[in-house]
Amino acid sequence: MITVLKPGVASEQIDNLVEWFEKQGLRVHISEGEYNTIIGLIGDTTKIDVELLQVIDIVESVKRISEPFKNANRKFHPEDSVIEIGDIKIGNGNFAMIAGPCSVESEEQILEVATKVKTYGAHMLRGGAFKPRTSPYDFQGMRGEGIDLLLKAKEKTGMPIVTEIMDASHIPLFEDVDVIQVGARNMQNFELLKELGKLDKPILLKRGLANNIKEWLMSAEYIMAGGNEKVILCERGIRTYEEYTRNTLDLSAVPMIKQLSHLPVIVDPSHATGIAKLVKPMALAAVAAGADGLMIEVHNNPAKALCDGAQSLNPEQFKDVAEKVAKIRQVI
Ligand code: PEP
Ligand code: MN
Repeated sequence: MITVLKPGVASEQIDNLVEWFEKQGLRVHISEGEYNTIIGLIGDTTKIDVELLQVIDIVESVKRISEPFKNANRKFHPEDSVIEIGDIKIGNGNFAMIAGPCSVESEEQILEVATKVKTYGAHMLRGGAFKPRTSPYDFQGMRGEGIDLLLKAKEKTGMPIVTEIMDASHIPLFEDVDVIQVGARNMQNFELLKELGKLDKPILLKRGLANNIKEWLMSAEYIMAGGNEKVILCERGIRTYEEYTRNTLDLSAVPMIKQLSHLPVIVDPSHATGIAKLVKPMALAAVAAGADGLMIEVHNNPAKALCDGAQSLNPEQFKDVAEKVAKIRQVI
């Protein structure tokens, strides 16, 4: 349920109303907009007498929210959320390019890729240290050592780093990581989401391989319900019956999310297609569809990559994508 207050209400009056809601056992989320303040209510609102609430002099309107996601709902927070990572902002017209290899493989590799993608227009560096591989016999990532190398690359380039977590027990290793990624395979690892909800750190939440938008937003809700509102959604393709591409990029999810939620949404055209040649057209389409950013896999030598080489761009191909993205952004 949301209670929209009339413009210019004194903070004391808001406090009194909030106190009253809390006494009814409800959790309160306040969103201060340009004109109105919106009080979002979470919990059992059935005992609230809507007609009574509506006649309070400071109240403009009261609406019940039918969707199960509340904190992530645009009705709770009509303005776009902006997530800040150092000097970088994502959302509400702020666009960010995240680039880097699927996996951190060595110091030379990550430093070379980081330096190049930064020169070519990336704002943040990605790189997997803990890798969710289908086969236990494939390269599993450099783990803690991989995070240390990402931090070295951050020191060298100044770029914030994004890397994936697979288990809540690893959280201490991520202390200096700027953005923690929750991969597609862990989108519904609810215990992990709850732990990430206790942090004060941006979380990049990828869409699950076979999850719909409502389930994805409910996973964001898990993180936000714990108090961490810094969630960035990432569309990375879903599994369909199509076999020529690794996944099917659901670009309609971008404008749909914008309608349903205030959270920023970025697109990963690398995992969405699995094919390097398809990354550029899908990246440009994502920007045209209104994405707040892109996450693109870039390797210094894709043919030799230990993971996801077929979908990785080389740094020069990334430069071309970044230039074309800038042009599309000018148009829209
Ligand atoms: C990744 O970003 O390297 C990754 C494993 O992505 P996803 O979880 O989308 O498959
Ligand atoms: Mn990958």
